[in-house]
Amino acid sequence: MAVDEQLIQDIVQGVIAKLNIAENKDSLGVFQDMNEAIEEGKKAQKIIAGMSMDQREQIISNIRKKTVEQAEILARMGVEETGMGNVGHKILKHQLVAEKTPGTEDIVTTAWSGDRGLTLVEMGPFGVIGAITPCTNPSETIICNTIGMIAGGNTVVFNPHPAAIKTSIHAIHMINEASLEAGGPENIACTVAKPTLDSSATMMKHKDIHLIAATGGPGVVTAVLSSGKRGIGAGAGNPPVLVDETADLKKAATDIINGCTFDHNLPCIAEKEVVALEPIIDELMYYMIQNEGCYQASKEEQELLVKTVFTEKGLNRKCVGRSAKALLQMIGVEVSDNIRCIIFEGEKEHPLIAEELMMPILGVVRAKDFEDGVEKSLWLEHGNRHSAHIHSKNVDRITTYAKALDTAILVKNAPSYAALGFGGEGFCTFTIASRTGEGLTSARSFTKSRRCVMSDSLCIR
Ligand code: NAD
Repeated sequence: MAVDEQLIQDIVQGVIAKLNIAENKDSLGVFQDMNEAIEEGKKAQKIIAGMSMDQREQIISNIRKKTVEQAEILARMGVEETGMGNVGHKILKHQLVAEKTPGTEDIVTTAWSGDRGLTLVEMGPFGVIGAITPCTNPSETIICNTIGMIAGGNTVVFNPHPAAIKTSIHAIHMINEASLEAGGPENIACTVAKPTLDSSATMMKHKDIHLIAATGGPGVVTAVLSSGKRGIGAGAGNPPVLVDETADLKKAATDIINGCTFDHNLPCIAEKEVVALEPIIDELMYYMIQNEGCYQASKEEQELLVKTVFTEKGLNRKCVGRSAKALLQMIGVEVSDNIRCIIFEGEKEHPLIAEELMMPILGVVRAKDFEDGVEKSLWLEHGNRHSAHIHSKNVDRITTYAKALDTAILVKNAPSYAALGFGGEGFCTFTIASRTGEGLTSARSFTKSRRCVMSDSLCIR
């Protein structure tokens, strides 16, 4: 379908201007105070909990429909507001969330029946869930979280990243509109107009919040896990991808660069560095440069990148989620538009390799053999146990690697995004809770287990 760039741009500007002028007062689900947001979320939750699964599913279907309709607007708003990511890829991410985030079908009942009667384990709601979302996938995470949480009979109060608040508010408004249109209540998803660390602390301490789902870096996960509440912690990763001499090297180069450059490397699961075995490292890099639009940075350029990408306080936010071309421009190197990734060979301790950058900069580490490759990959993953990938045709090696890395996600012979159901089987999520063990979260992760027993009756075998 042809896209009228100017029309979309005008709509995005219009929405942003409206949100600025009205200070979000016109948007559904937006409150000035966190306590008020939770109170309203609580009222909505009573209604949601009283609805049939079929009614909940109707609301979810409408959220899916609207997400597809507004995928381009949300994608453009996200890029415009945060300055990060790629519009085309963000459109795909929204379509993926709409189509592949599990709904009520994910809530399953377990039953035992026998001589002593019937026992059921049903998955019930927590109530109002507190959720903290990142600026890297702002509306994607909000929509994905809400679908799963509503399916479980909850409502949700978000404390979004302040750098993505307008996009987050647009998504929350859209979700509530979808609920109202489908006969559901307003405020199934709420937020505050100006999220801060204080509003987040209020949420974490609130007596009516029993579960907190945090998606972001290590700081937020630690804060949530120290809150005294049940927490789902979806934290940082630094996924290595190991390539051995049995791999299809041309395909490996394509898959790795496609995964690494998806949304300019913003996804936490994306390939962040390569570990390549000695016999194939040069050939692999050759294919990356020759076929995949990679620019090989010299030693001097690497040093300039280090000075640009890091500040005294850590990552330079102005570099996160930028294109390879933009990053190279920052160090005075002009390249053509088809350059999509910066590569170089370096030691695993190189700051552009060891740190989670979320930029299309891909260091390649040389390993003398497979065992050395596993060791280096393990070191680079920093014990996050989040994601790791491998290109190999040797099943024994894949098994050894998978056991050693012990991550929530392991993609074999495909781009990392296959783990989200994009070109791979399985459902989609943008909250991968490696630290607290839920792994890829879905509706059932946001429910609590309740056992219901009928003794000596209702067994009809
Ligand atoms: P971030 O940690 O800067 O912010 C994430 C959220 O946490 C924001 O809403 C922020 O306001 C809040 N926050 C940060 N510190 C906090 C604290 N001490 N108390 C309360 N709230 C706090 O992360 P970001 O830059 O928005 O996102 C990128 C990071 O998130 C990367 O490390 C990436 O790997 C990770 N991430 C993980 C997943 C996952 O599913 N595991 C998904 C997306 C992003």
